[in-house]
Formats: sequence, C-alpha cells, structure tokens
Amino acid sequence: MSRITKCVTCVKMGAGRVLCALISLVIVCGCNCVSISRQLPVEDFLYPSQYHNYEEITNLFRDLNSTYPHLARLHSIGKSIQNRNLWVLEISENVHNRSLGEPMFKFVANMHGDETVGRELMVFLAQYLLKNYGSDARVTKLVNTTDIFLMPSLNPDGYEASQEGLCDSKSGFEGRVNANGADLNRDFPDQFDIEKMHRNIFDGRQNETVAVMTWIVSNPFVLSGNLHGGAVVASYPFDDSGTGQECCVESPSPDNALFKHLATVYSSAHPLMRSGNACPPEQFNGGITNGAQWYEVQGGMQDFNYVHSNCFEITFELSCCKFPNASMLPMEWANNKESLLSFIEATHMGVKGVVTDEDGNGIEGAQVVVAGIQHNVTTTSLGEYWRLLLPGSYNLAVTAWGYEPVEPVPITVVQGNTTVINFSLRASQPGIYN
Ligand SMILES: [Zn+2]
Repeated sequence: MSRITKCVTCVKMGAGRVLCALISLVIVCGCNCVSISRQLPVEDFLYPSQYHNYEEITNLFRDLNSTYPHLARLHSIGKSIQNRNLWVLEISENVHNRSLGEPMFKFVANMHGDETVGRELMVFLAQYLLKNYGSDARVTKLVNTTDIFLMPSLNPDGYEASQEGLCDSKSGFEGRVNANGADLNRDFPDQFDIEKMHRNIFDGRQNETVAVMTWIVSNPFVLSGNLHGGAVVASYPFDDSGTGQECCVESPSPDNALFKHLATVYSSAHPLMRSGNACPPEQFNGGITNGAQWYEVQGGMQDFNYVHSNCFEITFELSCCKFPNASMLPMEWANNKESLLSFIEATHMGVKGVVTDEDGNGIEGAQVVVAGIQHNVTTTSLGEYWRLLLPGSYNLAVTAWGYEPVEPVPITVVQGNTTVINFSLRASQPGIYN
C-alpha cells in the first residue's frame, strides 16, 4: 500500500480497527462471528504475542532448519544495504531435491519495512506447516506436493527502522523505504518504461531488488503472494497502465480472469477482506481490485513477475494499520490462515507436464502456448512447465527452437486438479533454421 491518504484512516482508527470490524460483524451477523471467534487461534507458536526482529527471525529459522532438516532449508538470496541476509525458508518434502513436476510457490513479505503483518504471518506459517506435517492431512499433502518458499522480509533494514504501533509511515517514509531511501516496490523494470527498455534490467537498482529479481528469473516459480499493509484487499496485475495517470484506469493482463480468480481465492477466505470495506471509506467489490484501477504503481514487483517470468503474483494488503500492536497478531493469523493455505493450494490448477525430445530428454526454453491467451510459459532445464488456467477447454501448443512444431492439443482443465499433458518433439531437419 502506498498512498499517504489511504493511511489517514488507519491513523485515526489505530490498531483496534480489525477488532472493531470483528465486533461490528458480531452485531451484524452473529452466526458468522461465532465461527470467527472459534477460529481465534490456539497454536502455541502465536504466544507470547510479539514481533520478531532480524536476529530473532534468523535464530528461529535456523532452529527450524535444524529441527526439520528434511522439510526445511534456510538460505539467503542476497544482502540488504546494511548487510542483513534476505532469508528464505523453503519447505517441502525432501526439501533438498525437488521432484520432477513439483511446482514452486513463494510468499514475499515486508518489502515495505513498516508493513509488518505479512512478515509475522510468514513466521507463523513456517511453524504451522512444519509442526503439522505428518499429522494434519491437508498440510502433509501441501508440503508433499509443493515446493514452498517463505520470505519474511525483503526489506529487513526498513523493518529495523520502523516502530510498532505506527499505523502510517514515518515522515520521509523511513522504514517503508530501504536504507538508501528507495521504495523497493517502485524499483523494478517497468514494461512501459520505454526509455530504459534497452538497458541491462539490473542496472542502477537496489541490492534487495537485484537479489529478488535474480531469484525470480532464475527459478520456475508458478504462483506468488506479495504481502503488504495499509489496506485490506487483494490487488492483481497490472499495477501500471502506461497512461501516466495516478489511478482509475483498469489495466488488465492477458490472464485477467485467472488473476481475478486467484485474488478471490485469498479474499473470499478472509473474513474482513471479502467484505470489501474493512478500511472505510474504501470499498472493493469482493475484496479484490485491479492494481492500476486502484492506483498506479510503476516499477512494482507483481508486474515484473508476470512480464519477466512464468510466475503469477498477487499483492495482498493485509491490515488497515501498517504496523499494528503485537497483540493483534494472533487475530491476524486467524484472519489469514485459511487464505494463506488456499492460495498455496491454488498452485495446483491448470495444466502441467514435461516437454522432451524423442529420446526422452527434457527440452529447456520451449514455449507453451495457450490459444487465445497472449502469455506463454517456458520450460525449465528439465523440460517441465506449469500453466495456471481456470477450468474449461483450451488448445495447447508447444514450440521450441530446433524442433518441429506440434499441432495444438485440445485439453480440459477441471476444478481442483492439475491436468497433465506431456509433449514429445521431433528435431527439425538440419538446415531448416539456417
Ligand atoms: Zn506496501
């Protein structure tokens, strides 16, 4: 979340906003609220209710890594300006060896250092997945079938400069920005920035941005959530319309219907987000919005994911107050737990498979084309692909340099399952591509 005006209401209302909203829900719809109250969390890792600073997250994640060596792998994708590690905890069955066709999912939190709910949700989610693996069927299935990456903070320096209880950014945006004063969610290459189009896309960018850009383009992530605060809404691409306007221009991507669905997966499971009016006076139909329709972001991370990689990313704004008091965190876990799990599960939809040559060797860099949707995905070094799609009928084709084109294959995508379609390509006759 970024516009200062959006946060005026947070300052006025303070950290009690979510509680107020829940209380009003009790009044308006008693039976629903009973179920919300019952969901108030019992997990022991939520207490004592407190934030974890950089050192504490480092120690906690190291402990998880050593307690669950086959399920958790802690690594850093780079360093912040002030030399803090950009930690990622990877969680999956047999975590050191991703199986063929297993999709990769990521959550990235706290790129605005003073938007802190997502950061702590990653701390909670990591423990929830690891502690319940093997005893909870849903968690076990998710961890067995998905390679899950949790990044609690892309801006650890900003977090350390922020202050608990402040619902809006400090003056000069200290804490929101990184240690160089840069807003990381404006620091990515933008598809409409013609002037910089031909430069090396990494030139002149912040350490944190370069680290996460490299991570995104080097790995075949399928789905991603970008966790923010200062509003309660799921915002989907595009964030930029190229019009130069501040807001109110819908900027749909070729996968607009899919993105709306993915945003709704999260919002509909969130008792406040789905109402669309968690932070009055703002209203969001169904708790979702097109990014540019809400307000334009040039150089944002979610557009970068879609334009420069195979990954589909949605931005989730999680709390009216950017840095609510720690006492609110168990309730935030209760509000978001089902949404977080459901969104990771959405990695398993559409179609996936392997593209090989006639000898069964994976073909890297093949383009998987869905007729009618101008957004291809490319295969991994093992020939794998994943293409998120809504239920329906499609024609799927594959092209690869040096191989003969294949006729489009009619496929059916159903709810709740990934369709598997493998392709075997025949090498072109020598000379064809002279
Ligand atoms: Zn933000």
